[in-house]
Amino acid sequence: MIWVGTSWKMTGTRASAREYCDTLARADPDGWRGIQPFVVPPFTLIAQVHDALGAGSPFLVGAQDAHWAPPGAWTGEVSVPQVADAGAVLVELGHSERRAHLGETDERVNLKVEAVLAAGLRPLVCVGDSAQELASGRSADVVSAQIDAALAGVATPERVLVAYEPVWAIGECGRPPAPGEIEQVVDRLARRFGDSVQAILYGGSVGPDNAADLLRVPGVGGLFVGRAAWRAEGYLDLLRRCGTVVAENQG
Ligand code: PEP
Repeated sequence: MIWVGTSWKMTGTRASAREYCDTLARADPDGWRGIQPFVVPPFTLIAQVHDALGAGSPFLVGAQDAHWAPPGAWTGEVSVPQVADAGAVLVELGHSERRAHLGETDERVNLKVEAVLAAGLRPLVCVGDSAQELASGRSADVVSAQIDAALAGVATPERVLVAYEPVWAIGECGRPPAPGEIEQVVDRLARRFGDSVQAILYGGSVGPDNAADLLRVPGVGGLFVGRAAWRAEGYLDLLRRCGTVVAENQG
């Protein structure tokens, strides 16, 4: 199964979410057979997106983070049982924006992975190398260490999704990678973790022009997309492009 999902990050309103979900609900899933799609809205919209997509929807709904502690006195935080109650079945953890600006650490990511798994949800652990680490040839080591830390003591790593998201490729200041630029790191991650985790996704400046080629990189088991999927039509276009790659591989 190939995983292709999007995080809306800190975007989206009730009105835009309604329109987005209506468009997804009208789409024909035949165009992306073999793909597990998922949408990760901000906390405020998880329940709405879950309800709008409906029980039989092929789209899974996720959360962009969750605290490791059970519900209680953590002002401003949201617990795993709360995101589950809102309809999330997967939880994104360790995004580089949270690591860089919001004090996210490997240790906290590990606590959150355990809490997400204990609640029966699926963690999506984001890891990534900086431009400096890329330049000094340390990318694979840095990213492997992040995954080791996230999975420390975890009994069921096979439920965990990993998203390799180079910091140098993410967001508006990011540079779309040539597929060759991520091949070595993905190969190292696939050899080291490929048999233990559920899948290794690639994320960072994925768009219509490079999605198929990035998905063809050996070891890449899916794509995690930001900006290019913030409009439902953009996301559906990417799903269809990925569906073509899946069909090529099957036939
Ligand atoms: C991300 O930040 O996780 C991401 C994939 O962003 P973008 O696709 O916008 O580079």
